[in-house]
Amino acid sequence: MERKRLLDARKCIALVAHDNKKKELIEWAVYNKTALSRHELVATGTTGRLLEESLDRSIKKLLSGPLGGDQQIGALIAEGKVDVLIFFWDPMEAQPHDPDIKALLRLAVTWNIPFACDRATADFLLTSPLMHANYTCIIPDYSTYIRRDAIK
Ligand code: PGA
Repeated sequence: MERKRLLDARKCIALVAHDNKKKELIEWAVYNKTALSRHELVATGTTGRLLEESLDRSIKKLLSGPLGGDQQIGALIAEGKVDVLIFFWDPMEAQPHDPDIKALLRLAVTWNIPFACDRATADFLLTSPLMHANYTCIIPDYSTYIRRDAIK
């Protein structure tokens, strides 16, 4: 059975940037400060601290990514508490928490949430009319999987 989730006009946006991408994310966030002011922001530890300093507003800060912050955002997505993910990951450098990054991207798709991994896509997302309006999001149907005969 298909389920739906209402995303309010004021959304919860999760933000994460790897060290080589932090400058880019901060620049993007400052440029879009007014649009972002209409939403609730949550971020991994260091990204959140830098955003707080540059946007001059309080942001819910989780643990630093490699210390569990990516997993915390993944859990919030699975619980339906994050509406949009902005994740500037670094394509040029392996990270100590590569498995966590893969897990976070996987959960974003698992729960059908809009996410951007680069600045251009983040621009498209933030300027979408749906970003600032109520939106009904379809939650993929995992009932067959949940009820499967798991003992072989
Ligand atoms: P950080 O984590 O914001 O604490 O640096 C980001 C990450 O590497 O996942």
